[in-house]
Amino acid sequence: MKTSCEIIRDLLPLYHDGVCSNDSKAMIEEHLALCDDCKAELQAMDTELPINNMALNLKETEAVEKLSKKWRKGMLKSLLEGILITVLAVAAIALILYCFMDIRVVPV
Ligand SMILES: [Zn+2]
Repeated sequence: MKTSCEIIRDLLPLYHDGVCSNDSKAMIEEHLALCDDCKAELQAMDTELPINNMALNLKETEAVEKLSKKWRKGMLKSLLEGILITVLAVAAIALILYCFMDIRVVPV
């Protein structure tokens, strides 16, 4: 008996998710071996899932990118702070050296 494509397509989502009974599974597999249309339908379901995963991954990538942008902003801020502190320290050392040299120069 040839099972109709309509019945198979009703059952395909269940078969795809692996939740149909063994009898249905055997019937579907038997039909899929003979029917390219229903096989294509099942393959379409197979490719739908990775697309969903990709969308999910895209969201995750976006979140990571936002986070790294924030992080980079923080990096830049601490880098500028570091440069500022270094400049101030060098200026202070130069000032101290200048004062010492001034003191040494005065008695001579
Ligand atoms: Zn079919």
